[in-house]
Amino acid sequence: MSDGVSRSEIEQARALAANADRVVVKAGTNSLTNEASKLDIDKLDKLVDDIAALRERGKDVILVSSGSIGAGKGRIAYNGETVEESQALSTVGQSLLMHQYTESFERYDQKIAQLLLTQHDLENSERFTNVQNTIETLLEWDIVPVINENDAVATKEIRIGDNDMLSSSVAVGVDADLLVTLTDVGGVYTGNPKEDETATLIEAVGRNYDDVQGIVEASTSSEFGGIQTKVQGARDVSEYGIPAIIAKSTEPDVLEKIAAEKAVGTLFIPINGVIND
Ligand code: GLU
Repeated sequence: MSDGVSRSEIEQARALAANADRVVVKAGTNSLTNEASKLDIDKLDKLVDDIAALRERGKDVILVSSGSIGAGKGRIAYNGETVEESQALSTVGQSLLMHQYTESFERYDQKIAQLLLTQHDLENSERFTNVQNTIETLLEWDIVPVINENDAVATKEIRIGDNDMLSSSVAVGVDADLLVTLTDVGGVYTGNPKEDETATLIEAVGRNYDDVQGIVEASTSSEFGGIQTKVQGARDVSEYGIPAIIAKSTEPDVLEKIAAEKAVGTLFIPINGVIND
């Protein structure tokens, strides 16, 4: 389904996405851990392979990675019952995650850096300028910044809450040319694909946004980190003229395919300041 979005709009947006010089890639916990919540090295290596392919093309890549709480759970075999315990789990998992990323990127002789951010850092202009400057410097040095929320210090009231919102703020803040959100679902469907096998992939979102949002609201039950926030994050960047794609993390060569203008997942057409209805 791509009602309301023309072929040429889709093709133009796909070309923009393919030619992006600066790409923010967001990977969710399910794309990095297995059913036992253990960090899944094969999944992580696959993500790193995909990013390395973009680096190979000379693009700047910024990775927004979840998985700290998930990996922490697997590491100490305890799911945590309170907010405090989830925060503590995040500290266990975050260091493990970075250790594994360091090793995995090392296969490509690629250096990485860790940034842990809070809502304060996004809202306070001085702090956000510092974040932007740090990222610019790292990119000049050919280092891949790996960003997560600083879950250990983010209390309920000031939590960004999910990395879909964090990745869209980062994409806008660093003037990215593309946001790719990698998930286990693989895009936006006309229903919940995990429950409804007749659900079909929505190829592109633009003028049909309100319809898509309605479909998504009706088909999801969980508020946080579900497809709703991914759609919101992608829409937010598209309103800044940045194309966004929600795609399946397990899709072979997923980022390479995007760079080759292939149809992957659900594409959000950049709006360039004019919000169509
Ligand atoms: N910051 C959380 C973590 O790394 C994840 C938030 C999210 O799933 O969006 O575990």
